Amino acid sequence: MEKIVSLAKRRGFIYPGSEIYGGLTGFWDYGPLGVELKNNIKREWWRTMVYGREDVVGLDAAIIMNPKVWEASGHTEAFTDPLVECKTCHKRFRADRHEIIAKHEKKHKKAPQWTEPRTFNLLTEVYLGTTEPKQKAYLRGEITQGVFVNFGNVVSSNRVKVPFGIAQIGKAFRNEITPGNLTFRSREFEQMELEYFVAPDEKEAQKTFDYWKEERLNWYVGLGMNKEKLRFRAHAKNEMAHYARAAEDIEYKAPFGWSEFEGIHHRGDWDLSRHKITYKDDSGKEFTPWVIETSGGVDRSTLFFLIDAYCEEDGRVVLKLNKKLAPFKAAVFPLLANKPKLLEVAKKIFTDLKKEMPVVWDDRGNIGKRYFAQDEIGTPACITIDFQTLEDDAVTVRDRDTAKQERVSVDKLQDYLKE
Ligand code: ATP
Repeated sequence: MEKIVSLAKRRGFIYPGSEIYGGLTGFWDYGPLGVELKNNIKREWWRTMVYGREDVVGLDAAIIMNPKVWEASGHTEAFTDPLVECKTCHKRFRADRHEIIAKHEKKHKKAPQWTEPRTFNLLTEVYLGTTEPKQKAYLRGEITQGVFVNFGNVVSSNRVKVPFGIAQIGKAFRNEITPGNLTFRSREFEQMELEYFVAPDEKEAQKTFDYWKEERLNWYVGLGMNKEKLRFRAHAKNEMAHYARAAEDIEYKAPFGWSEFEGIHHRGDWDLSRHKITYKDDSGKEFTPWVIETSGGVDRSTLFFLIDAYCEEDGRVVLKLNKKLAPFKAAVFPLLANKPKLLEVAKKIFTDLKKEMPVVWDDRGNIGKRYFAQDEIGTPACITIDFQTLEDDAVTVRDRDTAKQERVSVDKLQDYLKE
């Protein structure tokens, strides 16, 4: 984990938020490479979940909503975590994080005294307006509610019929008791979610639940995540969220243990009925649809894609990111930085490629060092323009994963890279 944290900071993936003022616990900033990786993940998700289907439409709801939404959804009352404090050192923990509590008890050697668990609401309050008393509202604790309150709007303004889904990506905020493990548990984070509406029928709901479980796991595997490090974990009845009838997490075997980064939830009619929303089918029959939700964390998947891609081999560090996710698709190197003719040809190749895909330029140090620097950030191809290029109009393309080199003619370079 230390290696990932250091690489993320050093190469511009993830920085501590407001670092020059000492940071702020639970907030992170994405650097030039981090924003590319995160955007690529979101784009791939949208491509699969919206463009790739005929039964899903998109939405982008506001972060702040009328507080009545959160009362109706049960969040002001039940969106809580149990908090305990160690009486010896006053550190606070989530009472349901048994492994971490056990570790802490070991640290003190003799079992420390704990305070009684207190429930702690995770919603972040904000105050709106200029005159007192200001209007109290909340930053959304999950992006989901924006979908439910717009259910009627979407149905009446689009040709959608149950069963269908609404997809959304956006920020959510939680006043977490113990943020940590880099971005894994943050107070501001992004979610990518699908709310899939089905008729109120246990069999159909179960079928849909099983279908989305597999789809979501396969999506991560399809983008290169190691299947061996993924598993499902069903929630026990007593750990389920207040809205859930069934819940299974997709977990990744992180350096800090198996950890959830997406949840598949059977929310039944909880939300729509709390918001008093119904649906009429073609026959005029009115009912409250049930919801199967796939709720993924953008930051947690970004972190796990990074961890999963990290390799050390033959004295080099390589991020074997799927090429669709890699921040840069290629790097362009003129062999020497002080030969105007080489630079001119290399610049032309660079600007032509840049119109088609994210590419990076590097003319510093020897070629070996430049390869290492690109391997470490996962750039799939390095293109070297050398003296021979001036004669045969071909370049050397070196592959990140195999380190093999190939001569490719300049006029075929784009197609070669796209392939
Ligand atoms: P946890 O048990 O780890 O607190 P959760 O079960 O409360 O998570 P959900 O409410 O199911 O999480 O949220 C769906 C997804 O949103 C999670 O799988 C995760 O990827 C992401 N997520 C939730 N809380 C956080 C957080 N504090 N920081 C980063 N991502 C988060």
